[in-house]
Amino acid sequence: MDRGWLNGCSCRGLDPAIFYPTSDEDADEAKAVCGVCPVQEECLEHAIVHREHSGVWGGATERERQRIIRRRRRLRALNAPAAGDGATAASDGAVAGAAVAGSPVTVGSAGAVGS
Ligand code: SF4
Repeated sequence: MDRGWLNGCSCRGLDPAIFYPTSDEDADEAKAVCGVCPVQEECLEHAIVHREHSGVWGGATERERQRIIRRRRRLRALNAPAAGDGATAASDGAVAGAAVAGSPVTVGSAGAVGS
């Protein structure tokens, strides 16, 4: 997977704890950083595809990402062809076995970008 988007992270070098708030109500600081991040969209899609279960990614908490996933599933179900016509239902973008540990801030800080 292309992780070049990590190079544009606004969170690089920041305290990772900011991105792992104890509750959604404490996520404002992370969301403020994400809100001006040039790779916010890529980050959010990464978190959704890889089913990141904790932390703020792309400006969204885990709960907010779950809402996005459910919304996408509903939209796909509405737009899906009728069963039995040879089409297969799409997944919600998950890539099996492709989970990447750590948020952009931790991955970027660890120097794993571009290696
Ligand atoms: S968590 Fe994602 S969107 Fe937020 S600052 Fe880091 S790279 Fe950007």
